[in-house]
Amino acid sequence: MTIKSWAVLAILLAMGSSVAQDKGATPQMKAFTVIRAGTLIDGKSDSSRHDQVIVIRGNLIDSVGDAASTKIPQGATVIDLSKATVLPGLIDSHTHILLQGEDPAEGGYDANILTYPLSLRAARATVSVRRALEQGFTLLRDLETEGAGYADVGIKQAIDGGYIPGPRLRVATRAISTTGGYPLEGYAPELEMPKGVQIVDGPVEARKAAREQLDHGADWIKVYMTHRSWVGKSGELASQPTLTLEELKAIVDETHGWGKKVACHAYSGIGLQRALDGGCDSIEHGLQISDAQIAQMLKQGTWYCPTISVYYTDWGPPGSPEGQRDRLRASAHEDSFKKALKAGVKIVFGTDIGGIPWTEPIAQEFPRMVDLGMSPMEAIKAATSRAGEMLDMSGQVGVLAPGAYADIVAVPGDPLKDIKELGNVEFVMKDGKVFKSGDRK
Ligand SMILES: [Zn+2]
Repeated sequence: MTIKSWAVLAILLAMGSSVAQDKGATPQMKAFTVIRAGTLIDGKSDSSRHDQVIVIRGNLIDSVGDAASTKIPQGATVIDLSKATVLPGLIDSHTHILLQGEDPAEGGYDANILTYPLSLRAARATVSVRRALEQGFTLLRDLETEGAGYADVGIKQAIDGGYIPGPRLRVATRAISTTGGYPLEGYAPELEMPKGVQIVDGPVEARKAAREQLDHGADWIKVYMTHRSWVGKSGELASQPTLTLEELKAIVDETHGWGKKVACHAYSGIGLQRALDGGCDSIEHGLQISDAQIAQMLKQGTWYCPTISVYYTDWGPPGSPEGQRDRLRASAHEDSFKKALKAGVKIVFGTDIGGIPWTEPIAQEFPRMVDLGMSPMEAIKAATSRAGEMLDMSGQVGVLAPGAYADIVAVPGDPLKDIKELGNVEFVMKDGKVFKSGDRK
């Protein structure tokens, strides 16, 4: 080692020690922000509280307490929401930031994959995530890119790096189905068409796909356990099963080994049964769930992400096979949701937005859940602490409590009286930073 390199080393050591000192000094230097909350719903408790103060230090909540007894730290920035209802940032557990509710008149789903540059899809996704944050959704579980590869991982990095505004993302990357189990479909058999998911056949390919996706940044693995749907011979909602039990078990085993979870798109019948027998962590949509399957979900602790609203859009003409199917999907779904709710299945809020345009209000799912018998407080929990639990982020997100990220929203009225209030989010803070400050137009 030359003298020169010793000098460099000394400088590096000095820098290292100053970094360490900075780290030690950081907590004292982090700025305090204080929010005065007229009404506070903490995401976990069964009732709201009044005249509360949230003390935030940096990006974390330091304390939550009565206004009368809380000391405001010196020099704190005070945000007055004393006329509003303050809640944890909302969580949508089923989104597609890289879909735009593709209009069939403009070529629909296929045109999105066949004609749009990936950069266009990514650019539009930056608008999707901003819209979500504007509406108070500070975390999305984004359940696959629909042919856009790992673009969700890049969008997540852009948000986390502060380049674009957006919610925290938990991403599923490419998703998995089988040959004959996903679009693009209906082209000449001689053509090798791209697919909206990664196609696997056999447990070896299934496990390999999960490994690839996890290796490239998937936080969740998304699996399609059913494909298409139609009215069956006995009037049931029939759907085509895709992965075998062995294929799914290989994916679940691999994913759980990485400490991550598997979300299963499953409408009904055999595919839904295989999803449960294979140990999936969340059932997506679950349009027609039998009593025995509900009992199995309870026993296994399976989450249910119903996504109700999306099945009320774009119905085919009454009497046509599509029209009959579309109406059955909605009615069977209502029954399944009511049964699951009554039985105590763990339910999270999810919209499938992207399947519908991002210009639709995300909060429209709340009144659907309440109309089907869920209390407003339970619906709020489904989009806050319950989702945090499913995401293995309990105490960090979906709750206003010490130690949680300062992801905080506010609405002018009382969502416990009228759940539609959650469509009027006027204040949004994410990670301790104010994104939207409640200027009324
Ligand atoms: Zn979806």
